Amino acid sequence: MREVGGVGRTPGAAYFADVTLFDGRSVKQHAGVLVAEGRIAWVGAHRRVPREAAGAREMDGRGGTVTPGLIDCHVHLCFDGEASFVAEASVTEPYAAVKCVANARRQLAAGVTTVRDLGGFGAVVPEVGRAIDDGRVLGPRLIASGQALTISGGHGWNSFARQVDGADGVRQAVREQLRAGARSIKIVATGGVLTPGVSVDFTAFTPEEVEAAVDEAHKWGVPIAAHAIGRTGIANCVRAGIDSIEHGAQITAEIAREMKERGTFQVPTISALRGIVDHPEDVPPYAVEKGLQIIEMAQVAFRRGIRAGIRHACGTDAGTPHNPHGSAPREVAQMVAWGLTPLKALAAATSNAADLLRIPEIGSVEEGKAADLVLWDQNPLDDVSALLRPAAVLRAGEVVRPTG
Ligand SMILES: [Zn+2]
Repeated sequence: MREVGGVGRTPGAAYFADVTLFDGRSVKQHAGVLVAEGRIAWVGAHRRVPREAAGAREMDGRGGTVTPGLIDCHVHLCFDGEASFVAEASVTEPYAAVKCVANARRQLAAGVTTVRDLGGFGAVVPEVGRAIDDGRVLGPRLIASGQALTISGGHGWNSFARQVDGADGVRQAVREQLRAGARSIKIVATGGVLTPGVSVDFTAFTPEEVEAAVDEAHKWGVPIAAHAIGRTGIANCVRAGIDSIEHGAQITAEIAREMKERGTFQVPTISALRGIVDHPEDVPPYAVEKGLQIIEMAQVAFRRGIRAGIRHACGTDAGTPHNPHGSAPREVAQMVAWGLTPLKALAAATSNAADLLRIPEIGSVEEGKAADLVLWDQNPLDDVSALLRPAAVLRAGEVVRPTG
């Protein structure tokens, strides 16, 4: 790597010379990528490098691989990933905002240039997203959902979700999140692992409530995600037109076919389960027990989805126990370990994720798109563990790693 800029520097032109390029969908050898004014100005064969590249800083990528910046579709920035999720929820909103800023920076340093938050405190996450957009703090593009919506006493009521009941109540709560700055909506359709006293396959919202949430979110043009583990809750959400099933441990063969037909994404969040079941020494026993109940069926369900040809998007559930921010590279590796090809797993963390989040300017390396790029020393398609070592990270053309 030759000269790179420091944080806050106005993005100049930069040229990635003779790299392996994963453009979000396929791989090209001996490629060149020219970045100017925060966008991808040119991409093609390095031997046809355009004249404009002459004045650009050369990002010496020889032997390296360039990919779009990674996208994590499921994080909780107000949480650090301590052993007890519920205990972590006992901080004030101002303190949660400070954690949110620090966690956003961790994401960016790991090569994650966009995150979607699926539930925090009050309007903390949308406000931090605003501060990032305004350039007050450095962070990835942040798509906030505000608070998740859950039924009274449902999963998350005591941590990341707001309690709401009835179709009218759900519509109002969706509008309130959007008014607070949310650009995505999250509903909690079933029980969950991290809330004591609610079984994982408990069906929470009624079909009418789910339909109201989906209709209202789509009316405003934003994607809506459902936390859904039990089969009835998953089916209710898929049939109502939800954009993504988060977790999805009980996706049946029939539901998988329906997801394929409708284009519903699965965001499997394998890292969240691993973080819980691999740390029985300090994660609360009720959570370990529930995690162990579902981890095998989650893997079976994931493979059913692959066989049915559904699309996957990368989401870590970062902020849950032993699941720190910046773990999208590990989630990609987990998806490969559970049966997805490396190419599809990397697409899940780039082009598929951009489609799910409805942000066409990111997720692929094409002329005119935002220059959110990562340079890796080794090709992650040969060895996904290469994703743990980003050599350079650009967000909108600005070099944010190395920080100089
Ligand atoms: Zn979550």
